Amino acid sequence: MAKLEEMTPAGTREYGTGKQDICELTLTELTALLKEWGEPAYRAKQIYTWLHQKLAPDFLQMSNLSKGLRDRLSEHFYITVMEPVEVLVSKLDGTRKYVLRLRDGNIIEAVLMRYHHGNSVCVSSQVGCRMGCRFCASTLDGCVRGLTAAEMLAEIYAITRDTGERVSNVVIMGSGEPLDNFDETVRFIRMLSDENGLNISQRNITLSTCGLVPKIRELAELDLQITLALSLHAASQEVRETIMPVARAYPLREVLAACRMYFEKTGRRLTFEYSVVKGVNDTVQEAEKLAQLLKGMHGHVNLIPVNPIRERSYESPDRRTVEAFQAVLLCRGLSATIRREMGRDISSACGQLRRSYEKRNAEQED
Ligand code: SAH
Repeated sequence: MAKLEEMTPAGTREYGTGKQDICELTLTELTALLKEWGEPAYRAKQIYTWLHQKLAPDFLQMSNLSKGLRDRLSEHFYITVMEPVEVLVSKLDGTRKYVLRLRDGNIIEAVLMRYHHGNSVCVSSQVGCRMGCRFCASTLDGCVRGLTAAEMLAEIYAITRDTGERVSNVVIMGSGEPLDNFDETVRFIRMLSDENGLNISQRNITLSTCGLVPKIRELAELDLQITLALSLHAASQEVRETIMPVARAYPLREVLAACRMYFEKTGRRLTFEYSVVKGVNDTVQEAEKLAQLLKGMHGHVNLIPVNPIRERSYESPDRRTVEAFQAVLLCRGLSATIRREMGRDISSACGQLRRSYEKRNAEQED
């Protein structure tokens, strides 16, 4: 088994049992393992399909494998299955917010949004986050750990199992900074778009980042066909620093240069996310500056009226202010939309669901 250990990322071997998470293996890795076990190559594909298409929760169900092979698999591996501990359902638009428990007891959240063009899932990439953006609830307690690719897949599988509906779009915009968990996130994207798995086109996958410059450049080199969304939130270095500590490490100029490089390498248009905060970055002058900054960038601006969190004093501007902001961008020839808030009646900002769940549970234990 020494070889297998080299192939799987650290942290996927379960404490106590020494078993590994089989959902972490790509089809290529699974094929290499089965070959080592003296099994024919098609067996790997069969197992992969059970895991990533039929979403089998255990090896027993894999009826086209011999009992011997199933036993051998369960001796060495486990299958990540995530049970929702809470599901909030919107009566307005069918949005479903999931609180999910990981095997080690950590809690994360994921969201299913139903659009005309299909079902979209917003996945978390870390338990918590260490980027410190001022308006974001995910980062208030720091980062506990990055999620494995298998855990990110399991978020989607849990939702698919729950609803029985196909997921056609995935946005990596839940808690965490995906580029701070680079290898696992890339593995996740590759497995998600594998034709033997859920086969979600990379064009239907969006990765949102706060702007880790070296990692954006590394990602561009991989030539994936995903959409990169940059959390910009300001039109100047000065304002950006006040809301995003990470801006001090990676100046705006360098972030935008990395974005330009991403576009040149991949040919994929970027999305710029701009959370609009009352009195901080919501003026028409800021909009003018933003238009100037993004001139010639081939990007799309997504305006998100900030979702206020209790721990901070940030407020959302009124609708007209956001519309005026958008109008300036449109006038300057940029493409810009205001994000429609999904599941308003079960409204909770990034990371708030997990926090409220953990808090309630802690109170019960006291
Ligand atoms: N770490 C990634 C993914 C984070 S969440 C990133 O920074 O892009 C996805 C988007 O939601 C980011 O643009 C983030 O800044 C934004 N966001 C987080 N909390 C928010 C809130 N309370 N109101 C509005 N936007 C928020």
